Amino acid sequence: TPQLLGDARLTDTHCPYCSLQCGMRLAVRASAGVPVEVRERAEFPVNRGALCGKGQSAAALLDPAVRLTTPLVRDRGVGGVGGVGGVGGVGGVGGAGAGPGARGELRAASWAEALDRVAGGLAAVRAEHGADAVGVFGGGGLTNEKAYQLGKFARIALRTANIDYNGRFCMSSAAAAGRLAFGLDRGLPFPLADIPHTECLILVGANPAETMPPALRYFRELPENGGTLIVVDPRRTRTAEQADLHLQPQPGTDLALALGLLHLLIADGMVDHDFVATRTTGFEAARETAMAHWPERVERITGVPVAQLRDAAGLFGRARTGMVLTARGPEQQSKGTDTVGAWINLCLASGKAGRRYSGYGCLTGQGNGQGGREHGQKADQLPGYRSIEDPAARAHVAAVWGVPPESLPRAGRSAYELLDSLGRPGPDGVRALLVMGSNPVVSAPRAAHVAERLRALDLLVVSDLVLSETAQLADVVLPAAQWAEETGTLTNLEGRVILRRQALTPPEGVRSDLWVLRELAERLAATDDPEAVETREAVEAPDAGYLPQGTQRTHRMGGRFDDDPETVFDELRRASAGGQADYAGIDYARIEAEDGVFWPCPDERHPGTPRLFLDAFATPDGRARFAAVTHRPAAEEPDDEYPLYLTTGRVLAQYQSGAQTRRVAALSSAAPGPFVELHPLVAARLEIAEGELVAVTSRRGRAVAAARITGTVRPDTVFMPFHWAGPGRANTLTNPALDPTSKMPEFKVCAVRVERAA
Ligand code: SF4
Repeated sequence: TPQLLGDARLTDTHCPYCSLQCGMRLAVRASAGVPVEVRERAEFPVNRGALCGKGQSAAALLDPAVRLTTPLVRDRGVGGVGGVGGVGGVGGVGGAGAGPGARGELRAASWAEALDRVAGGLAAVRAEHGADAVGVFGGGGLTNEKAYQLGKFARIALRTANIDYNGRFCMSSAAAAGRLAFGLDRGLPFPLADIPHTECLILVGANPAETMPPALRYFRELPENGGTLIVVDPRRTRTAEQADLHLQPQPGTDLALALGLLHLLIADGMVDHDFVATRTTGFEAARETAMAHWPERVERITGVPVAQLRDAAGLFGRARTGMVLTARGPEQQSKGTDTVGAWINLCLASGKAGRRYSGYGCLTGQGNGQGGREHGQKADQLPGYRSIEDPAARAHVAAVWGVPPESLPRAGRSAYELLDSLGRPGPDGVRALLVMGSNPVVSAPRAAHVAERLRALDLLVVSDLVLSETAQLADVVLPAAQWAEETGTLTNLEGRVILRRQALTPPEGVRSDLWVLRELAERLAATDDPEAVETREAVEAPDAGYLPQGTQRTHRMGGRFDDDPETVFDELRRASAGGQADYAGIDYARIEAEDGVFWPCPDERHPGTPRLFLDAFATPDGRARFAAVTHRPAAEEPDDEYPLYLTTGRVLAQYQSGAQTRRVAALSSAAPGPFVELHPLVAARLEIAEGELVAVTSRRGRAVAAARITGTVRPDTVFMPFHWAGPGRANTLTNPALDPTSKMPEFKVCAVRVERAA
């Protein structure tokens, strides 16, 4: 029963943005004035009513003036060059034109036309080039239900191996390192509420003061309990300013830094030998590589003074409890998995894992960065965090889906490999792509190249709530319902499954992604089996439009695609049962009653698992594994031609590719455009003044933005935020060199040249 306040209907839900998934209350009015208002929801334990500016202004995303409200299609072979210009009230999104001469402009279309065009195009590519010539690119902001359904759609409606998602660019190195060390990856293996009770916290390449400010309260409570905060970051960020000790290494050298700290733990007698002997394996090999990284050598590699290394090792090593939390800094490197492994080694050597108030965790970025990687939209995974190559996993999931196990594809290409293959001739090329909830034209590395690959496709389909830069290149754009307009679950960075409740009806012309997948699956099934057409036409007229949620049809080809989120979640529970991310005991009613449920939760009587590994790690022998890793340079180091490091990151008022936040006036005025942070020594040497336009050039391209001169960056490093498209797009410059294990691109370090823009 909805709560009422005057003429407003109140709905408890969660923020549309980051992985903290702050609780909020929406007041929706039928009358004129401000139709939707974001209010505090103090009872939700994660944020206790606090919201950052993004959450506070989230209702602006619902304004029809800034979003898509009708499908768009582009006719091929008519018209000339030209993309779609700016959207009402939104600056800086024009300029993504179609390919020379071959493609017309996007125009409004009916849903029937748009869906027929998509299904017909996908089926034609599949018939001509094979199933793997169709690709799917998902997003870490999709609900669990959508992520699950998208994976299922790819594997049984399209029968393609080639599905991956933008979460590969987010925390895949932490996930890979966590699985190697602990046998299981969950962002935080403990609730956020444990953080203030640890004695020493090391934050590595994480800037929660800008990315998730309500989480700062957990870090701020540390000193009140006598705890210490160490921040490792090449920039003196707002988070670093609050630290007891800030280590400022050269970009790409955190692996050496962690090895140097382990060296000092060993050399100064701070290893917990009982813990190492009883709960870990592989210490000797890790010890050997650490001993080769003595403090003076590490100072030479990282630029961090030996005295600071000793201080950090002492603070962490002598504390009875301690945590290491990483974010994108150490993870977005071509050695990201090894780097995170080196930080995990510190926890293991000092006995700070698998114990209360101790452990390693990852501060996931995207709203469903955690759940998005559990349910099958990753190239190598099936729901429940199962490997797609595991015969038992294939049999279990195939039984839930009602298809033979042998019909399921094998592992496909990782995100960047998939984007790089787009439009290429020959057996390895992907010729049609469905993008759901992602904007790789801004967020992928070597972004100009990615845009070129997208333009080379036979068919690009984008489902999004706004006309993102990627949507501007599409042949078909499908306007999607968003957070407050539909119900679904997400899993926050703690592994807490939460429920976003629908608060209002989407505008006329907008559809949910689940409905779109159902409609496409039916059309594709009809292509495979003409008798299925008769089944469909018996249910509805060809242009009947949006059926109510919950309408179901059965396919002759096997597999069933519901569009009711709770029905999909019930199927997800069955698919995940027995897997590592086991949701079998979680349902919507329970999530609401308990303010979220932590997985694994194998049955209805199970309390959920806020803290992992207290008795044993999830490896076959129950012991955590040290990583025998060694330092190596970044894939691209500065040289005479490109003498500076570039590192990238986020700012408080924008989120990820900015597709949403750039359309919110309050956020755009707080953070209106890209900039380049330069150290005063660099600015003086290059005769660059504050605010002057500078060109930053790497081997992949050139970006132009205003200079910000600040002593918070190192003299060998420049920084750019990556939220903007156009000439100031930071990802034009970044390096797609991949981590061999996680396939994470090296967003965080490449070599650039800076000069005054002509
Ligand atoms: Fe939303 Fe994240 Fe801000 Fe919370 S911290 S209000 S979840 S963007």
